[in-house]
Amino acid sequence: MRYRRYYRKFCGIAVVSLLLAGCGSGATAPQAPAESEIVVSSEPSGSQTASAKTSRKPSSSPVTSTRKTDVNNSSVQNTSSVKTPAVTLSEVLYRPSDQRPIHNNQRLALLGIHCYESPRLKLYTDIDPALAATLPAVIDQAYPALENYFGPLPPNREGTEFQVTGYIMQNRELFKKAGVILESLPTIVNGRHLGAQFWMDAQSEEYYQRHLMLHEYTHCYSMIMENIGAPVWYLEGIAESMATHVIDKDGEIQFNVMPHNKEDFGGLGRISLIEEGVRAAPPKSILEVMQFGPADFVSNNSAYAWSWALCQFFDKHPHYAKPFRELPRYMQGTQFSHKIQQLIDDEFYEINDAWLIFARNLRPGYDFERASVTFAPGLPIDADAPAVATIAGDRGWQSSGMQVEEGSTYEMRAEGIFTLAEQPKPWKSTADGISFRYFKGQPLGRLLMMIRPESGATNPDQRSMLQEYPLGANATWMAPVSGTVYFRLNDAWDELADNQGRVTVTVSRKKKNDFGTASKTVD
Ligand SMILES: [Zn+2]
Repeated sequence: MRYRRYYRKFCGIAVVSLLLAGCGSGATAPQAPAESEIVVSSEPSGSQTASAKTSRKPSSSPVTSTRKTDVNNSSVQNTSSVKTPAVTLSEVLYRPSDQRPIHNNQRLALLGIHCYESPRLKLYTDIDPALAATLPAVIDQAYPALENYFGPLPPNREGTEFQVTGYIMQNRELFKKAGVILESLPTIVNGRHLGAQFWMDAQSEEYYQRHLMLHEYTHCYSMIMENIGAPVWYLEGIAESMATHVIDKDGEIQFNVMPHNKEDFGGLGRISLIEEGVRAAPPKSILEVMQFGPADFVSNNSAYAWSWALCQFFDKHPHYAKPFRELPRYMQGTQFSHKIQQLIDDEFYEINDAWLIFARNLRPGYDFERASVTFAPGLPIDADAPAVATIAGDRGWQSSGMQVEEGSTYEMRAEGIFTLAEQPKPWKSTADGISFRYFKGQPLGRLLMMIRPESGATNPDQRSMLQEYPLGANATWMAPVSGTVYFRLNDAWDELADNQGRVTVTVSRKKKNDFGTASKTVD
């Protein structure tokens, strides 16, 4: 299939560019030599043997992967019923040793750089002390969330806890003078990380200060092991995802959230960038995002926004969240690309369509659950027997089960009354919509249509599906393309939850010579 070939080609590109990301996710830390060693132990024959992979496991003891070697293999003719014990080779996996420099805090303090330390972060900064003092605790709250998402880190050989040293710089010159910015570090744009250290410029927005710190810390945590092979779009997108947070009134922080507004996420602007992007052009396809190379992230917030959006799409989607959240187990080596390929290969057409709908409509508070589409191909509409579908008010696009043919004329009516909100009072609407409130240029509640070309169609133009046709309660129209009809009742994508009720849509195909009553065409 066409898309499969694209993907294969893309995989080749992705693998060579894995370790060169921008924003500090690129440079690999100066690592100790290979961090695995072979120990030989014997296990009773027949005991459970782990598969030979080196993924992290939820354990605080060294992670072992074992391979069983049957010593009987050497027997030429082993007809004996006496079994000799198998020997198991275990690889003990360690994370790299702590190679962070130890600073003279008194000397740094004389320069105006102060140290704030918690179990998981040692922060050096020249920002307002009252603000600085709150930041290590944010990281300590993030730590279990990172462990939960990426899996706990294996221990290092010294048995010390994982801690990161971070530098938040108001006046970068001070830090240069202090000698804490490594010469070898590529230019810091906003932030950068290297091994278990990160550097970032102080940010004027308090939200974004924490966000950028969490972004860099996520890189430190998720990329501390050697031979990280996950592609750049994922490393940046998932760091952006984990960094997106809300703090409740008790100071409890939730990470990896979808912003529910723009005000509480000052300085972020990811959703605005996507909104601007899709106003100007069709959304980027999944493959376009997955092909971002490290250079795309240099001084380019839109690459971060698209990578974040793609990670959010997978991470929050009712069907794809589960396999997507297994990917952190395959960060090392080349397994990640195979896994993501498996995830999208068989259902590429559906996944990409679902992605295009998401990207086109992304806004704060986007309701993933209700907006997710179940794609179901329709059947042709018989000229003598109208087709009927029920369309719920609290969902996104819904398959009508009807297939239309390019150039044929159809007559449609939608009956029923539904409510669009309960507060301050129920807003009742028909499929014509209510004229005192609009969303995307159409009255709230108006019946909208899109036509999705079938996957078997020759050269289907997926993006034609993004064309929305406002129909209202009664319409006669000529189908501009062939495909399955999807309907929805117009409402903002973050306000579906308070809708109730449905309409019944009846569509009949007009006979070829019956054009006399056409009242509307769609184009
Ligand atoms: Zn980054």
